[in-house]
Amino acid sequence: MCDTIIEKYVSDEKYDIPEMAISNGVDAVIYRVEQETAIIIYNGTRLTEEELLKRIQIFNSKIVSSELNSVNYTVKEQHIETVNSGAKQEINGEIIYFLTSSRLTPDLGASRILNISTIFVLFGSVVIAIILSFVFSNSISSPLQNMCASAKNLNSKNFEVNFNGTGYTEVEQLSSTLNFAVDELKKTDELRNEVVSNVSHELRTPLTMIKSYAELIKDINGNNPVKREENLNVILQEAERLETLLNDMLDFSKLKSGTTLYNFTEFNLYSLLQKLFETYSTKYNAEGYTFKFNSPKNLKITADYNRIEQVVVNLLNNAINYSKTNKEISITVSKLSTNYYRLAIKDNGIGISEANIKHIFDRHFRATNAQRTTVGSGIGLSIVKQILDDHKYQYGVISKVNKGSTFYFDFKTNN
Ligand code: ADP
Repeated sequence: MCDTIIEKYVSDEKYDIPEMAISNGVDAVIYRVEQETAIIIYNGTRLTEEELLKRIQIFNSKIVSSELNSVNYTVKEQHIETVNSGAKQEINGEIIYFLTSSRLTPDLGASRILNISTIFVLFGSVVIAIILSFVFSNSISSPLQNMCASAKNLNSKNFEVNFNGTGYTEVEQLSSTLNFAVDELKKTDELRNEVVSNVSHELRTPLTMIKSYAELIKDINGNNPVKREENLNVILQEAERLETLLNDMLDFSKLKSGTTLYNFTEFNLYSLLQKLFETYSTKYNAEGYTFKFNSPKNLKITADYNRIEQVVVNLLNNAINYSKTNKEISITVSKLSTNYYRLAIKDNGIGISEANIKHIFDRHFRATNAQRTTVGSGIGLSIVKQILDDHKYQYGVISKVNKGSTFYFDFKTNN
């Protein structure tokens, strides 16, 4: 190092010396001696004047005693050890002294600064970590706390609760799942209220009839066999209506709650339809109804025989109940595509208004102003819907007021 500095000095590149000394981490001193006094030409150290003189003295004594032009030696002072390299050279008739020293022991000052900055960095990181964890935990916990508060508001009487979880995807998913659950609860609650009010309405009418006709027999017609017979027939009819209603309710509630076990078997739908066509023709021809039946003969399907029969029976009963003057009813199976068919039951009756058709399968029980019919409990179509949904069949209705209705469902045959 010392040689390089000398080279620079001699070649008049003196200005490069400080940068070179700093970049190599050495203290460099250049001086000459006049009348036994060191005149500093360049001081590249951070030493005090006293320390510098001491260093020069040591170097002087070494170079004088060695009688050489350059010396290398180490010095240990106050636990700090330095490696020194010095040389003297005659330049332009003047003896110039070059001395470089570098520390062997670490600079305690620097390492202290390093330690302090390490502590600051560490402390800063801990503070940042605490702030970040606070921010993150807050952004997770506050929506959860909101949701918890919403959940506390949710009870059997209050479903007007909204779970508002924003931020993380999981929290958003949780809140939308909870909102979905609340919507379902709301729907179930509405359905329950609707069913309870409709059931009471449906039960009240036949019960009132039974009661009043029984009173009529007891008070007035008891001894008149003809009148008594008439009144008893009404009572029987109304009791049958009650029975139908209760059976349908039971069926519906079992289907809705999923406790109905389906018995899927393979059978020919054509045979079932043929059987129903014959039964209904026999039973209702006398009342002026005519039935048409048109279907391919091979309609093997895998389904629950009794439930599909229930669907067709409900649709046929409705077709009968809601026919007025034109009592023609047709049962038609037509091909939609390979293995896909549509069963349509068409009447020429009163039809369904556009306002009612949208909710026709969801009404659960008859509208209060609907006419009373001899058959049907008001949940026939709800049962149809549930069974067809459970079979994953598509279904629908096409209708025009005073022209008639066509109820249909699509099914798949086996090959
Ligand atoms: P119900 O026939 O016992 O009232 P449903 O659930 O079978 O109960 O039918 C619900 C309502 O849909 C009926 O009250 C009636 O207003 C209407 N509806 C059903 N089928 C027909 C049809 N073929 N023609 C006209 N209206 C119908």
